[in-house]
Parts: sequence; structure tokens; C-alpha cells
Amino acid sequence: MKAVRVHEHGGPEVLRYEDAPDPRPQPDQAIVKIDVCGVNFIDIYFRTGLYKTDLPFTNGQEAAGVVSEVGADVTGLKPGDRVSYCGVQGGYAEYAAVPAQRLVKVPDGVDSSSAAALMVQGMTVHYLTHSTFALGSGHTALVHAAAGGVGLLLVQVGKMLGARIIATCSTEEKAALVRAAGADEVILYTQKDFLTEVKRLTDGKGVDVAYDSVGKATWQGSLDSLKPRGMMVFFGNASGPVPAIEPLTLTAKGSLFMTRPSLPHHIATREDLEKRSSDLFNWVRDGKLKVRIGETFRLSEAATAQERLAGRLTTGKLLLAP
Ligand code: NDP
Repeated sequence: MKAVRVHEHGGPEVLRYEDAPDPRPQPDQAIVKIDVCGVNFIDIYFRTGLYKTDLPFTNGQEAAGVVSEVGADVTGLKPGDRVSYCGVQGGYAEYAAVPAQRLVKVPDGVDSSSAAALMVQGMTVHYLTHSTFALGSGHTALVHAAAGGVGLLLVQVGKMLGARIIATCSTEEKAALVRAAGADEVILYTQKDFLTEVKRLTDGKGVDVAYDSVGKATWQGSLDSLKPRGMMVFFGNASGPVPAIEPLTLTAKGSLFMTRPSLPHHIATREDLEKRSSDLFNWVRDGKLKVRIGETFRLSEAATAQERLAGRLTTGKLLLAP
């Protein structure tokens, strides 16, 4: 089969589209014939070596497709079932061997592109708004990079839960998408100081929760955007990692809470995986949540897709189709 593999860490040029052995299922695994796989920022972190894994490896953390074969111990899944998954390395390929416990069935009414798109970014939005901070009416949330894959979903789910959303993004074109997703306010953080704007828009009070996936470029302003006892959620490094923050800084800024969550801990149990994915599938099927597929590339174009993602040139979800 064809796969996109990384033999040494580096730029997009280290992504090699090459022949790889067809996977065989371990007793607890199913083989998924991949329809589409998602491109995520985390793929870039693994490619560059910011996040560690053994070399060589096949890039990619999520996909949707059809079960083609199951291992001897697998129950409840059979060839032909439509499935999706995340958190298993090796999605940039024609086939993947995936522990059956990590697969969820995709219901009728949800296409493969939407299913793949929801696995990392959608489930992240689910835990950020339900577990990290129980977002609801009466809350104001700051959402950075709101036209991105996570961002557009986070704005919509935040509005669904009744919160006021103050969003940021870099261009007018992106701002139009963010407004269409339901954001109450959109700040072009490349043109205006977002902290000043947040203070203005909240009559100096600040926000209840700040969702910051941009990291290095925005972390200070995000902390300063919070109300006393507000919740700082750092969940990404799009511009680089957030440096160390002294606990007393949180005291000085108003007894703030700060967390740095990650998806695997929020879908570690089968119950969590099923609850979050079924909520997302239901929202999409019922028309409450729109998944924007920004672009779909061929598998051989993985490097271009990652370059565009890292270059801030994308909106919504990026997919690769083998
Ligand atoms: P996005 O589609 O959101 O793309 C990243 C966006 O970040 C860009 O489009 C850009 O939007 C913004 N950005 C700001 N500064 C930079 C910069 N210097 N370089 C690149 N981009 C920049 O990506 P994803 O939806 O895949 O991921 C969003 C974030 O969420 C990532 O940081 C990712 O690591 C994180 N994440 C965290 C998870 C977790 O569990 N902790 C799980 C999933 C994702 P703009 O042009 O508008 O500024």
C-alpha cells in the first residue's frame, strides 16, 4: 500500500509518499481501508519532533473508512462497517491497523469526510467545552484562531451551549467565516491588540474562559483577558509553546485557574470515546453543527497540506484522500 512516512524529523520535505507493507491485524485490531484522513497540527508536531515517537513512523492521527478485516478477538465489528478513529499514529495511508476499542461506528447521515474531521478537532472541542470548563449561558469565552479546524467547531458549540463568544483570527476572509459560525465578536488580532479589544467588549471585566491554541504569540494577552478566578486553557502551540508560568503570576492576576489539557486523556475510556463521538455525530446529523472541509488533498500531497496549515493559509478541516 501507499503511505506517508517520516524517517527523520524536519520540515514538510521529510514526508515521504512511499510503498509500505500492508498491515495485518493483531487479535485485538481491525484493518481500516481509509476513505479520508485528517491533517492536524499535531501531525506537524510529530513530524518536527516537538512531540516524540519512534522513527520511522507513518504520520496522521485520525481517519474514516471501512473495516476490511478483523483480528481473531474482535467482536462487534465486521468487514463493511463504516468507522472512524483518532489517536492512533498511521492515518496517512491506504490502510491502517487500529485497536478495535479505538474505533467508533459512523452512523448513516454522517459522511466519511465529516466523520474524519470530527475525530480530533470535534472531540477536542467537546472536552474543552464540557470537561475542561462547563461552558454555558452567562459565560463569555475568548476563542483564538477561530477560523481553523478546532476554532470553527469551538465557536459553534460555544454558541449551542449559550455562551457569548469573542473570537480572533488573522484576516477579513477568515472573520467572515467566524461570524457565519455564530461568533458574537471577531477581532483581527493581526491588526488590533486583542487584549484591549476584549477589555472594551466586556466593559473592562474580562472573560470567564480563554481557549488559547496559538501559544507563544498570544499567551500573555490571554491570561490578562480573564476575569478574576477565570479559567486559562492552553491547548496548542501553533505559534510555539507557552513558556513556564509561575503559580504566583496566577495569584497576582486574580486567582486564575490554568490548565494544559490533551485529547487522549479525555477519550481514554470507551465510555468517554462513545459519549463524545455520538454527541458530535448527532449534532452533525441534526444540522446543529456544520463541518467545514477547507480543502481535500491527495495522499501524495501531504507535505503541501501541512505547509498550508502551518502557513496560516487554511480554514476549517484539511483532509487527505488516499
Ligand atoms: P488550525 O486549523 O486552527 O490552524 C492553526 C491556526 O492557528 C492557523 O490557521 C492560524 O489562524 C493560527 N495561528 C496563529 N499563529 C500561528 C502561527 N505562528 N503559525 C501557524 N498558525 C498560527 O489547526 P487545528 O485545528 O488542527 O489545531 C488548532 C490548535 O489546536 C493547534 O494548536 C493544535 O495543536 C491544537 N489542538 C490541541 C489538542 C489538544 O487536545 N490539546 C487537540 C487538537 C488540536 P489565524 O491565521 O487566524 O491566526
